[in-house]
Amino acid sequence: MTAPTRPAGQPDCPICKGQGYVIRPGPEHAQATLCECVGRCPLCDGTGFRVVEGREGAVARRCTCRVLPDRIDLFNRAGIPARHATSTFESFDVRRNPGARGAFSASRTWLKGWRQGEENRGLILTGPVGRGKTHLLCGILRSLVFDHGVEVRFVEFTHLLSALKAGFDEGIGEAVTLQPLVRVPVLAIDELGKGRATEWELAIVDSLVSRRYNALATVLATTNFRAVGPTGCVEANLADPEKAPSLGDRVGERVFSRLKEMCQFVPVGGEDYRCLVT
Ligand SMILES: [Zn+2]
Ligand SMILES: [Zn+2]
Repeated sequence: MTAPTRPAGQPDCPICKGQGYVIRPGPEHAQATLCECVGRCPLCDGTGFRVVEGREGAVARRCTCRVLPDRIDLFNRAGIPARHATSTFESFDVRRNPGARGAFSASRTWLKGWRQGEENRGLILTGPVGRGKTHLLCGILRSLVFDHGVEVRFVEFTHLLSALKAGFDEGIGEAVTLQPLVRVPVLAIDELGKGRATEWELAIVDSLVSRRYNALATVLATTNFRAVGPTGCVEANLADPEKAPSLGDRVGERVFSRLKEMCQFVPVGGEDYRCLVT
């Protein structure tokens, strides 16, 4: 982990608790800003650059005080939903949702194992709606950005499909819309497998996952579907959940088998988290 060396927030700041940044819900996405308690950097006098003596004489280098503003920029480009502006590990109350304790620990353990610049196996949080999967996912992303300086991107699966369809209508090819999602070091897909699972949708998810698989890039995801391969079930079967469609049914055998190689599957159990949070 590269600890940011920066003129951090004041430890007793009531607004940022010393973090130096504040995150609030924007119109669509969570938005981070530098806290007003962060003062002018004494090392560079606020210019962001320092002149240091190198072997070849004096050179201008970016000052370490830029680490925090750079991470704020990364966060603001991550696309984290406004409703998850406050979703962190600290705000995830395992006492009120004990069934999610295992997934909470697994997510923290996964983060501890993050290796900058190396291949990192991903994580897929599985379980019924309202168990706090997206909260944990956003907590992981926030830590990757602010603790490790990693570029991440959050996409809700059906929003991605809508964006691709809208682009198609405007004559923008899929490749243009998908390219940033292929290149970003960590892609987090919320509600993977949701949608109508049409042939076109399966082709999109296949293209995205295959390209990230080939690039050894990290995939994080949440899904409401069971983490098993295709079962042939198409319709939800409330009487027998074992006969409901699986993730394999929703994304196809090839994608499911790649995801199994690329990611660890972690079940998120417990009560409906949204009912417990007041
Ligand atoms: Zn502050
Ligand atoms: Zn500075």
